[in-house]
Amino acid sequence: MRREEFDATWRAAAEEALTGMKQWRLEHPQATLEEIEHALDERLSKLRAQLLQDAAQASAAAEWTKAPTAERPVCPECQVPLISRGQEVRRLVTEGDRPLQLERSQGTCPRCGRAFFPSG
Ligand SMILES: [Zn+2]
Repeated sequence: MRREEFDATWRAAAEEALTGMKQWRLEHPQATLEEIEHALDERLSKLRAQLLQDAAQASAAAEWTKAPTAERPVCPECQVPLISRGQEVRRLVTEGDRPLQLERSQGTCPRCGRAFFPSG
């Protein structure tokens, strides 16, 4: 994702959290501090998960297949650059039980045939 796309996506996500919170407050004029806190946490954790996912996705590790051979991760056994085996979706759960989906490139060693998920 390019920087401008981040800006737009993140701005929209933040906007949604803020607008949602404002709306919730209007609908719950008698809410206690605890209830407000809970409503806020819910929205912030959703925003947090979105930002985390996008930021992680944009890392160099996710894009190593496009790197020149010399910069690719190597097999720890054979020390030869890995070959891309395409993308695999990794599903994780972050704070607030928010699901994260990270697409990561799987690599295979051309010598020993072992598969890896190089991480940055
Ligand atoms: Zn190997």
